[in-house]
Amino acid sequence: MDLYEHQARDLFAEYGIAVPEAETVEFAREAALAAERLGGRVVVKAQVKTGGRGKAGGVKLAADPAAAELTARQILGMDIKGHTVAKVMLAQPVDIETEFYVSYVLDRAAGTFLAIASAEGGMDIEEVAATRPEAVARIHIDPAEGVTAAKAVEIAVAAGLPSETAPVLESLWQVLVREDALLVEVNPLVRTTDGRILALDGKVTLDDNARFRQSRWGDDQEDPGADPLEAAAAAKGLNYVKLDGEVGIIGNGAGLVMSTLDVVAGCGARPANFLDIGGGASAQVMADGLSVILSDPDVKSVFVNVFGGITACDAVAEGIVQALESVRLTKPLVVRLDGNSAARGRAILDDRAHPLVEQATTMDGAARQAAVLANAG
Ligand code: GDP
Ligand code: MN
Repeated sequence: MDLYEHQARDLFAEYGIAVPEAETVEFAREAALAAERLGGRVVVKAQVKTGGRGKAGGVKLAADPAAAELTARQILGMDIKGHTVAKVMLAQPVDIETEFYVSYVLDRAAGTFLAIASAEGGMDIEEVAATRPEAVARIHIDPAEGVTAAKAVEIAVAAGLPSETAPVLESLWQVLVREDALLVEVNPLVRTTDGRILALDGKVTLDDNARFRQSRWGDDQEDPGADPLEAAAAAKGLNYVKLDGEVGIIGNGAGLVMSTLDVVAGCGARPANFLDIGGGASAQVMADGLSVILSDPDVKSVFVNVFGGITACDAVAEGIVQALESVRLTKPLVVRLDGNSAARGRAILDDRAHPLVEQATTMDGAARQAAVLANAG
């Protein structure tokens, strides 16, 4: 689960990392009073679980409480990369001398943690990393040792950060360890013109596997974090992961869905998602799955790949037919049914004769057809 910036800010403060004074509000009419309490002039910041808010117009300076209210009104409800802004944080502005970048992230490939730091932080850090990788230091951290005072200095020196940032690097590591985070990122960590080191923005991703021992976040807090489609799918209890291609995928069984993604990729198209409808494959699950996939604007065709085992293909076909009653099909659907009662299943779909539904007898053939339809649409 990702945290909102204001939650990350509060965590940092708890661990002794200096952050700007701030208040978070849901309604624009609360913004003026909050700004007044903060001294009048404030930065108004959209609270969404995605980056690039500054560039999207979600971070704005307001000169006084009245301007803060107006700015909050503008930013609340704004859409930033598919995330609707429901809260804004008002923060005391600081005069920035330099912006740095620091993060700790789980490096799965290396099987350990990685510190990433740069003296050229700020909104263009991705570009810095892409064009001048030497400006970004990457140092592995032995999790058994953690970030000691010496390690913090090593990271700061490698990245060209001033030595006053070393204590922040140590505290940030404590946030990662004690909060069970997979990622903590501060961008920018700034030195102000009066020489203070402040965390001006924060991103924290918690390890969901450790939720049971991190009671402060609650058990049932729904997470609109990752992706709006994933949130919609999660609300329907679907096992769905958004990907960035054009072929929507529905299959039964995680292994079959994984190989379906591979086969589609092998046909020169890109999967738009992973969706495993599991063993049951009822009409309701099929309808829920289809409605999530069809609401993805990137999807150009949908491939339903089912191997009938305990769930027979005729039951799946009935599910598809019933789903077509409740979901308006707007994109071509390629269905491949094989295994238990495949012939009966195919006959049911043939009888329904929906103009946007076609069938294939093999997984490869179906993948090719779905790829052709996606590339044509
Ligand atoms: P992001 O775009 O989502 O990463 O949002 P940030 O919170 O990082 O803000 C984007 C940029 O706004 C920062 O890199 C700063 O340059 C600028 N900014 C944010 N807060 C302040 C502030 O208090 N004072 C000044 N001068 N600039 C700020
Ligand atoms: Mn930032």
